[in-house]
Amino acid sequence: MEKEKRESCGIFGICSPGDEVAKLIYFALYALQHRGQESAGIAVSNGRETMLLKDLGLVSQVFSERDLVTLRGHMGLGHVRYSTTGKTAWENSQPIQVTRGGRTIYVAHNGNLVNTDALRRELAGNGFVFRSTSDTEVIAGLLAPYLGGDLIEGLRQVLPRLEGAYSLGIMTENQLIGVRDPYGIRPLCVGRYMGGFAISSESCGLDIIGAEYVREIEPGEAAVIDGEGLRFVQVMEKKKPSLCIFEFIYFARPDSVLYGTYLYHARKHMGMYLAQEAPVEADVVIPVPDTGVPAAIGFSQASGIPFGEGLIKNRYVGRTFIQPTQAIRQLGVRLKLNPLVRDIKGKRLVVVDDSIVRGTTTREIVKMLRDAGAREIHMRISSPPDMYPCFYGIDTAVRKELIASTKSVEEIRRFIGADSLHYLSMENLVRSTGRPKDQFCTACFDAEYPIPVPEDVLSDKFRLEGRMTR
Ligand code: AMP
Repeated sequence: MEKEKRESCGIFGICSPGDEVAKLIYFALYALQHRGQESAGIAVSNGRETMLLKDLGLVSQVFSERDLVTLRGHMGLGHVRYSTTGKTAWENSQPIQVTRGGRTIYVAHNGNLVNTDALRRELAGNGFVFRSTSDTEVIAGLLAPYLGGDLIEGLRQVLPRLEGAYSLGIMTENQLIGVRDPYGIRPLCVGRYMGGFAISSESCGLDIIGAEYVREIEPGEAAVIDGEGLRFVQVMEKKKPSLCIFEFIYFARPDSVLYGTYLYHARKHMGMYLAQEAPVEADVVIPVPDTGVPAAIGFSQASGIPFGEGLIKNRYVGRTFIQPTQAIRQLGVRLKLNPLVRDIKGKRLVVVDDSIVRGTTTREIVKMLRDAGAREIHMRISSPPDMYPCFYGIDTAVRKELIASTKSVEEIRRFIGADSLHYLSMENLVRSTGRPKDQFCTACFDAEYPIPVPEDVLSDKFRLEGRMTR
């Protein structure tokens, strides 16, 4: 069976006795929409019965006002899902629901497992009928026998069998649980809302509903929320904390807090260090919006070169479900970005972006700026060269498609057509986060994978021209 390999998602759950939570979840998912645009889902419980609504599309496309009024309950779990493998089946949207003996479990997953084939076969051998190709159903299937009994014990038994990255939201009729893998690769935090509690992939999901941030769930820890309130249970032994450093660079929103740091501040520092590492004479510093903005501000402050907006983003076009025609597709990056020609013409630009993956967008941006009359283009990237694939839930590319895996910095500079190119050093990237390097997964930059990846899974994405090399 074809399997989903890449999932970068957002989770939000809340239990607030006396409240109707569907609309709260709706707005929280809005705040987490950047973590996944393919499908959205909300399950609710009133303590006895549960209800689920999920579909392909953006949060605003999936739920109508009427839907949200119909979804009644004081507890709920929501999910936004992103996947680009082409398997966009409804069944793979989340939360995944499994019912056993009249009881129901919902699971919402952010991350990616690397060992589900054997678990899937085992479940199928025991008569479990799969409805989806997603890893998440494997987790729900393994937990189902514990429904009506001790679900926390179920987590202790089942979760150590999973290998890979997982932050999970789990809901039954009367319990909401947030849990992170023993390495804590994907984020998940807890907040307080009125008389209840919430879990969210990022703190920005709490902010939007006015919930108060409590703390991050620790690696291997579960936050259990029910009628008795909130308690934390260490369900697995904590391993070396390995939060994905790409969350700091690109993925999470700048107004979210991770490891106690505002990502906006961390990204601004990345830009300041870039200015120190690779100073250049220029007229204006411009970001590639939106993710390049904080680092560009940092670069501008540290260098004294004025900050300007050279590229205006068309915020909504990337999220359309209308397939572009060939003529429209050829417009490429112009669909998303429009240059402020009069501000760029004749200028020496520092252009700041967070990362280069394949290099194709960056090349188009440089060309667009040249066409707009830029005199010099100095590209500054607020992360080291992205050289290795992610197996833990960030959708980048297989290794041979990552431009830095086969080209030197000088070759990349030539490919993108910039006058100069500099990537932030690992040392200063880590310094910007305020935490030591050993608290992160940095595998996309140095192939130091904290969780062993089975050879067959590894070789799929790791091969460079038929050879397995590191
Ligand atoms: P490219 O030049 O084609 O490699 O594109 C670089 C752009 O991709 C940068 O602006 C990044 O912000 C963005 N980017 C980095 N990682 C991802 C990702 N996982 N998914 C989508 N875009 C990304």
